[in-house]
Amino acid sequence: MIDDAPSRIARFIEPFRVSPGSGVNLAKDFDPAFEGGVKRKKDGVALLNEGIELLVNYQARLAAQDTYGVLVVLQALDAAGKDGTIRHVMSGLNPQGVRVESFKVPSALELNQDFLRRYQKRLPSRGEIGIFNRSHYEEVLVVRVHPENLLRQKLPAETRGHHVWRRRYEAINDWEQYLSENGFRIVKLFLNLSKEEQRLRFLRRIDLPDHNWKFSSHDVEERRSWDAYQEAFSEMFSHTSTAWAPWYVIPADRKWFARIAAGAVIAHTLIDIDPQYPTLSDDALRDLNAAKVQLQSEAPSAATPTADGDAARATPARKLIQKDA
Ligand code: AMP
Ligand code: MG
Repeated sequence: MIDDAPSRIARFIEPFRVSPGSGVNLAKDFDPAFEGGVKRKKDGVALLNEGIELLVNYQARLAAQDTYGVLVVLQALDAAGKDGTIRHVMSGLNPQGVRVESFKVPSALELNQDFLRRYQKRLPSRGEIGIFNRSHYEEVLVVRVHPENLLRQKLPAETRGHHVWRRRYEAINDWEQYLSENGFRIVKLFLNLSKEEQRLRFLRRIDLPDHNWKFSSHDVEERRSWDAYQEAFSEMFSHTSTAWAPWYVIPADRKWFARIAAGAVIAHTLIDIDPQYPTLSDDALRDLNAAKVQLQSEAPSAATPTADGDAARATPARKLIQKDA
């Protein structure tokens, strides 16, 4: 069953992929409630666990090989479930190999620098999976929807014109191509929530005391720009889904489905990288054997020289435990 997992995963995520070069109309082209053959949460749980098992295995190999890095870009509307997706998808992974970076309103120092700089600084290293909770794409989303953000960036007048967004798309595509050519694969996920489901989730945040902390009146204000955001997302998908870093639009009206789909896209990328545990050179193997002989020669007289094989199982300490049991 595990053997055909790669092709099953590839088939499952295909409808979410934005074909490079295609013109996207988010509202028309992607359904936030899409079921993708998984109707019940019960069926989804097994898939989610299988996906996580796969991720755990591949992450260990990615870290050991130390050649490729993976950047997961997570964009979404408020209440679409970014935090929950990160929590679920990353459960079970070795924390030493994962880093999550969240991007907020830029600081004064960041506004004094070129727009990609703060993202460049927080990229994963080789062997790591880095997650951008919001990302450089905010530079063509919130900054585009609320142009006062662009004014704060103090750009030279000649770069501030109407063509600024097209130039940013190009700069982002070039930067991502440079990263992928250097061994950093980029997985771009958009959690696609419907306006009605967002309304219900906001209400739940207000009604449930435990969820109050998640509610911000700013989010309700942003909701008024819903159409402008849909347009900014559509433009962004049309211009920045590339062969080296395609976008995936994840149906997010059902949280558990979004988590399965996000995990599947990440797994798909890792399967494609297919990282391998390093094999030792003849010299290194010879050193390893020499070290083994050395350690065996240091054994106290009552102990067995080796840690494996029948001799080890027959040590006096083991016999004692077996007798007590
Ligand atoms: P949250 O992710 O809910 O903690 O909110 C972070 C806030 O930072 C959101 O309101 C974003 O719109 C805002 N933000 C993130 N990146 C930028 C950016 N480059 N320029 C302006 N605002 C941003
Ligand atoms: Mg928020």
